[in-house]
Amino acid sequence: MPDYEVILTSDRTMMSNHHGKEFLGFLATGPAINMPEKVWMWLAAPKLRVDEFGRPKEAPYGLRKVEAKLIDEGFKAAIIDPDYIHKYLNSMKVLMVGHHDFFAYGPPSIGWWVITGKEPVNRLSLMRFMRSEVVRKAKERGVRIIVGGPGAWQWLWELDFWRECGVDLVIEGEVERVIGGVVRKALDGEELPDYIYVGPSDTPSIDEIPVIKGGSVNGLVEIMRGCPRGCKFCSVTLRPLRFIPLDKICEEVKVNLRAGVRSVILHSEDVLLYGADGIRPKPDPLIKLHSVVRGLVKDGNIAWSHVSLSALKYAEENYKLVSNIVNNYIRVGKQTFIGVEVGIETGSPRLAKIIMPAKAAPYPVEAWPDVVEDAFRIMHENYIVPAATLILGLPGEEPDDVVKTAELLDRLKPYRSIIVPMFFVPLGALKHKDWFRKHNINKEHIEVMLRTFHHTVYWAEEIMEKFYLKEPYLAPIRLGLKLFIQYAKWRINKLKPEIEALIKA
Ligand code: SF4
Repeated sequence: MPDYEVILTSDRTMMSNHHGKEFLGFLATGPAINMPEKVWMWLAAPKLRVDEFGRPKEAPYGLRKVEAKLIDEGFKAAIIDPDYIHKYLNSMKVLMVGHHDFFAYGPPSIGWWVITGKEPVNRLSLMRFMRSEVVRKAKERGVRIIVGGPGAWQWLWELDFWRECGVDLVIEGEVERVIGGVVRKALDGEELPDYIYVGPSDTPSIDEIPVIKGGSVNGLVEIMRGCPRGCKFCSVTLRPLRFIPLDKICEEVKVNLRAGVRSVILHSEDVLLYGADGIRPKPDPLIKLHSVVRGLVKDGNIAWSHVSLSALKYAEENYKLVSNIVNNYIRVGKQTFIGVEVGIETGSPRLAKIIMPAKAAPYPVEAWPDVVEDAFRIMHENYIVPAATLILGLPGEEPDDVVKTAELLDRLKPYRSIIVPMFFVPLGALKHKDWFRKHNINKEHIEVMLRTFHHTVYWAEEIMEKFYLKEPYLAPIRLGLKLFIQYAKWRINKLKPEIEALIKA
């Protein structure tokens, strides 16, 4: 048994590859609906394959980066599946738990929670893990507990639980430059601060960002950090923009291939801005990136994590770049479509001007609804299936802004897509504003939620029919999702009179 002194892990909702389908991971942000929690968890977050020592073949990318950094700095560190941590009680000195949504306060978890009144399974699962016997025993033996990741801020809203679990340190931000020093102090028994926020002055340079040493969930590989658009509700925007060099990207793809992960998710806040000139996509770096990656993963799928709708429109209208990349490098072999997350956020140019003035750039913000529709049309024509977000309850939002969003939803009807409404969560430059709560929901919000529901159900059925979950081994998941969609339709139909009365009130 290896004698790891630093163990990195998370709860099951993070330590899963969601059946190889990243989108199914969204189910882990909701509560179990009309089925036992165990079945819901199996749908959303099945266990990962591990080796004899409990090391997963694929693990969350953020944990992989920290693991790589610690190994490079000489620590005996490894990511271990939560079911196997008890095997390391004798050697473990530091337990590090990473998460992007510890307590389900992030979008979309908070939306599910507000609407259903039930705690999402990611929250339940994380709290169960932190209260588990193995974590308690580790604490009794003097193991220092460090928690971190994009959801670290949520511990500030759970101070009692923080104390109950005996968490020594909460760390937030890009940690590569500082994490070695912090873990050294923890191992040496030195005092740790309660909270560390890694600010811009400690942002790691490209050279300080290590190459992962083991497979990442669904082959996720980072190609860029930061985003230049500066939306006020977003924390990413506070970070400087850095492009990961192509050789490092290739190394990580190869690490995944060696781990048996044959797909790649190119991760960036805006994949089409890789190597860009400001907010204008450039053909050469993007074509090179896709050509090299396709050369490595010949029979695997390539996905994009996020793109901005304005970059997509600009790239296609100026260079036919989207259709070129999709047809020549993505939809080849067995791959028939590509999934991606996109942000609509609002259909109101007035509100867009206030909270995301550069989101439409290089187009004027007044044209935001047209940019969204054009981008959706381009994606539809090129078999790009977006999972799009809307934000309800943004600070400064007025009923007419929500009406504009509903009107935009009507314009998006012909385009294959999943659209998810989310409630405003105070992050980024708006982190001191109020949360959006159930009593803030007005009839315009209900109208938008209904339209997104009908849109998403219509297209989800079409997407499953033509593209998604077609592999025979995924038949039970497909059936589970179909039943869930039928149940949701039946529920909404049943509630129709009450909802109509609410809208008319
Ligand atoms: S475009 Fe997306 S990642 Fe960039 S600042 Fe806006 S919300 Fe954040």
